[in-house]
Amino acid sequence: MMIKVLASEIVSKIAAGEVIERPASVVKELIENSLDAGATQITIEAQGGGVEMMKVSDNGVGIASSELELAFHRYATSKIGNLEDLEKISSLGFRGEALPSIAAVAEVEILTQTSSQSVGTYLHLTKGEVVRKESRARPQGTAVTVHRLFRYFPARLKFLRSPNTENSHIAHLVSQCALAFPEVKFSLLLDKRQSLRTTGNGHLRDVVNELYGPEVAQRMLKVEQKDDLAAVTGLTSPPTLMRSNRSYLSFFVNRRWVHSPLLTRATEDAYHGLLMDGQHPLAVINISLPAQELDVNIHPTKAQIKFCHEQTVFRSVQKAIREVLDRTPIASSKPVPFSVGSGQWQSPRMITDNEPTFVVSQLPALELPVLRILGQLANTYIIAEGPDGLYLIDQHAAHERILYDRILAQWSQKEVEVQGLLQPITIEFSPREEETMRASEEALAEFGFTIEPFGDRSYLIRAIPAIVAGANVIEIVSALLDSLASSESLNPWQERIAQSLACHGAIRAGQQLSNEEMKELTKQLEQTKQPRACPHGRPTMIHLSAHRLEKEFGRVS
Ligand code: ADP
Ligand code: MG
Repeated sequence: MMIKVLASEIVSKIAAGEVIERPASVVKELIENSLDAGATQITIEAQGGGVEMMKVSDNGVGIASSELELAFHRYATSKIGNLEDLEKISSLGFRGEALPSIAAVAEVEILTQTSSQSVGTYLHLTKGEVVRKESRARPQGTAVTVHRLFRYFPARLKFLRSPNTENSHIAHLVSQCALAFPEVKFSLLLDKRQSLRTTGNGHLRDVVNELYGPEVAQRMLKVEQKDDLAAVTGLTSPPTLMRSNRSYLSFFVNRRWVHSPLLTRATEDAYHGLLMDGQHPLAVINISLPAQELDVNIHPTKAQIKFCHEQTVFRSVQKAIREVLDRTPIASSKPVPFSVGSGQWQSPRMITDNEPTFVVSQLPALELPVLRILGQLANTYIIAEGPDGLYLIDQHAAHERILYDRILAQWSQKEVEVQGLLQPITIEFSPREEETMRASEEALAEFGFTIEPFGDRSYLIRAIPAIVAGANVIEIVSALLDSLASSESLNPWQERIAQSLACHGAIRAGQQLSNEEMKELTKQLEQTKQPRACPHGRPTMIHLSAHRLEKEFGRVS
């Protein structure tokens, strides 16, 4: 094909597509504009996952009537003026791309009023063109309404997930903005339901309370440290408070929410030796450093940044958190109770009698021979002898496999064993979790959970599946919701739930087992359909064949 310059309409759509990936990207850009305009109150509304309608209203400085059209021109900005400014950006926006990008992929209405004008200005844009402009009254500030996102962008529309999922992205985004700006009053309405409201009193702990509940808010430890390069402030969890995923880690650099593997690693490194595998801390970390020390202009959505002195920032963050942890006495973490005959340790119903109606795993089924227990290694592995050599069995992975098969079999027969709680447990969901909860209510009920709404984002847990009796209920439910919301896993929902329950119900590494318990565990493992792999696909055992042993000892060549 001949080389030719693309028409401006196509160019603007391509560019818009880079900035606006999904409804939450629109909300992000609009909130950033409100914050740059000095707003102290920001209200966000979304309907139909944001595709139908999104509206962000603020009480910021507003836009002068004479400049309103200009704001929708590509590369029109009031925030930087020259190349030098680009080197030290202090505002959240700077490219002048957001409003034109949004207008290129949706219908936009804007109503704005500055303090110096007697009346506000209203503008309506369709397909990026102004179709109406008039004077209208409004208190000082700006409201932008976006309708029918991606209507003329079917390729993008096709890739959006369900309204519930898009809502959960919006809720997560607004939560992060609220954590970054505790002095701003945020209010989020999803499908007319109040999903989040912060007071704007400037206290980060109060925002954490609002998002993650009072228990977390009370237990979080204060981080506050300054060195030559950076000031690191925020809240981080004690080692006894953790989650099974990283969605409770938030990083802000000069108040910009960033995705940074470097900062994640620095934080987790600070917990080295304090957390078990698969556990992650909760943290809200603000890093402030001179604007020249970072480049925020490396990604269309501005979610990634580059530090000039990466290693120094890494060390500052790690040290700031580690010092807080070193000052905090560590309470012993409770292992999951485990004993033969207890609620969670019953011999399983014979799974083989009634086949579950779906494929449990794609791994080849390899039967396990009958094993003789020799002992336990490092309170973690069972040492056993089989007809052909030695077996080392990972007790946690093996138990996970047993529980996974058991809970799926119970589920497919609609016979999940339930444990009622004498005292219902109150759980406070984050706005994002609540969206997932609402979408997954039935699925959770099928697996034995009774969870009832209890005002705002509080819920009462009245019953749980028996296989996780004794484990930390709040942790289990948050892990489950996170796994259900994750877009990384392609597994069907019932497998995700079973995996998560099995992982939480299973005995831990480090737990001493009696001979009887080890015998029972291997016996039950022998009866599973995939005894050699845990539900995540990791091996449950290592086999050293008799031949291999002879070879290693030089008995045969
Ligand atoms: P950028 O934020 O990169 O400057 P945008 O396209 O997001 O680009 O916005 C263009 C301009 O419109 C901004 O520079 C700002 O002057 C003005 N503007 C946008 N939203 C608001 C708002 N909520 N309040 C005041 N001014 C705004
Ligand atoms: Mg902007």
